Amino acid sequence: MIQIYTGNGKGKTTAALGLGLRAVGHGLKVIMIQFMKGEINYGELESVKHLPNFKIEQYGRPDFVNPENPDKEDIRLARQALKRAAKVIKDKQFDIIILDEINVVVSFGLIKVEEVIELIKKTSKKTELILTGRYMPEEFVEYADLISEVREVKHHFQSGVPARKGIEY
Ligand code: ATP
Ligand code: MG
Repeated sequence: MIQIYTGNGKGKTTAALGLGLRAVGHGLKVIMIQFMKGEINYGELESVKHLPNFKIEQYGRPDFVNPENPDKEDIRLARQALKRAAKVIKDKQFDIIILDEINVVVSFGLIKVEEVIELIKKTSKKTELILTGRYMPEEFVEYADLISEVREVKHHFQSGVPARKGIEY
């Protein structure tokens, strides 16, 4: 199945991680490819070292990507991640493939919508493909089996609380 977690509220990446956690408990193999994330010590990178069959790979810089004027390096890394995603989809070594923040990368124009649709079409019927990130392109709707939108009702960031270790990263 094709699943999408989108919306402006907190909980999309953690939902995908939770799904992966559940899956490895049943012996499934999981890979999360993270677009636009790198070098920040996210807790999940350490956690999965203790789990069999759960892999996380990061393709990004620690800085925010400027949507108006993305750095050449941002584009290069997004393309590298896309290539890696195409390979893991083709190889069928993983039961669950999570493309974290791919919606954002498409919405910022680093990757074309059609390129992701191509990946979706090539995904084996036996593989669960999870796409996350706010700003999901409307074009994905017809290809997805499940779409959940996390809507921000309230976020502590708005009252000035910075990202906290163990909670936001
Ligand atoms: P999480 O990684 O905690 O599951 P997320 O994947 O839903 O969150 P993203 O949209 O990927 O959130 O945002 C990246 C970072 O911004 C995360 O650290 C997240 O906690 C934080 N964040 C999410 N929603 C908001 C918001 N509405 N305002 C401010 N920061 C937010
Ligand atoms: Mg996220």
